[in-house]
Amino acid sequence: MSIPFLDVGAAYRELQDDIESAVLASMRSGWYIGGEEVTAFEREFATYTGTGHCVGVANGLDALHLALRALGVGPGDEVIVPSNTYIATWLAVTQCGAVPVPVEPAEGTYNLDPARIEAALTPWTRAILPVHLYGQPADLDPILDIARRHNLKVLEDAAQAHGARYKGRRLGGHGDAVAWSFYPGKNLGALGDAGAVTTNDPAVADKLRVLGNYGSRVKYVNEAQGFNSRLDPLQAAALRVKLRRLDDWNARRAVVANRYTAAFAGLPLTPASVHRSAEPVWHLYVVRHPRRDALQNALKEAGVSTLIHYPIPPHLQAAYSDAGFRPGQFPLAETMAAELLSLPIGPQLDDAAVEHVIAAVKSAVASVG
Ligand SMILES: *Cc1c(COP(=O)(O)O)cnc(C)c1O
Repeated sequence: MSIPFLDVGAAYRELQDDIESAVLASMRSGWYIGGEEVTAFEREFATYTGTGHCVGVANGLDALHLALRALGVGPGDEVIVPSNTYIATWLAVTQCGAVPVPVEPAEGTYNLDPARIEAALTPWTRAILPVHLYGQPADLDPILDIARRHNLKVLEDAAQAHGARYKGRRLGGHGDAVAWSFYPGKNLGALGDAGAVTTNDPAVADKLRVLGNYGSRVKYVNEAQGFNSRLDPLQAAALRVKLRRLDDWNARRAVVANRYTAAFAGLPLTPASVHRSAEPVWHLYVVRHPRRDALQNALKEAGVSTLIHYPIPPHLQAAYSDAGFRPGQFPLAETMAAELLSLPIGPQLDDAAVEHVIAAVKSAVASVG
């Protein structure tokens, strides 16, 4: 038996007829930028997340970047970011001419540790950018409280957390804005690149619409130096079909995750812990092991594909070599890069595959010691 890390085509095949007729209808409508499919998806995703506004953009990085700009972040500002995240979170900050200021995660949940934020604030701090990493909501209330006390904006990176809840409420409107990616491998994935921002602030939504459309509200009248970043109507058509299945898919991911966690109890292998206020959607299922690379090789031999999220933390990437960071500066992020392994998880992973992964993990752990 050979288990891929994720079969991205499986979600498409499950809804193939509905997706194909929606995309075909969109093509035949003769409307190729904006229009009804985009507006309908924005309305439906705003409703799903319980927020006042959703603005579609071209991808998740643009969602982060444009949302920071709409919140007023610009050159010279500092933005608090997790030391352990996908590099897009940091790139969005530098694309605004602002400076990413890394803060280490809480060990266990791997999300931004609110207790470490205040020590990183300076007179130039403008915003806090928590990431709901691996599909688990960050501990938002203390972060929002710090932001209120210091007059900072909060942008959430929810690229891995569609449908996740914090204190019973779906992500989407806790902070000033929330950025989403619909990259094909995400819990809600398009058939290519797509993204969105949700917010309860109509002024932020309005700024985003203008920024993503050449800085223009009225054709050929440009009030800002904007960007071209719009949600493609074909992607919107496919996303509308998939959104209706998202809760079922997330529920299946939770079943798989809970089965893994129960099966790994007592093994010298540490699954992520879940914060009491969080209902994760298990975009990834990570485990920590001191001999991670050996474990990954043993699993590969047993036909189980795994991935590492992420092998190099942003501060050690060549992309940030000019920023003056050094190895050892963010030890938790570096340990996670060395010790975390992501096991196969997805809504179409069946029980037989799950049991195969569990058996393979048990014997791999025993063999690597
Ligand atoms: C996927 C991802 C992004 C970027 O999304 P794209 O649509 O690929 O640009 C940003 N942040 C996190 C945490 C992600 O996982």
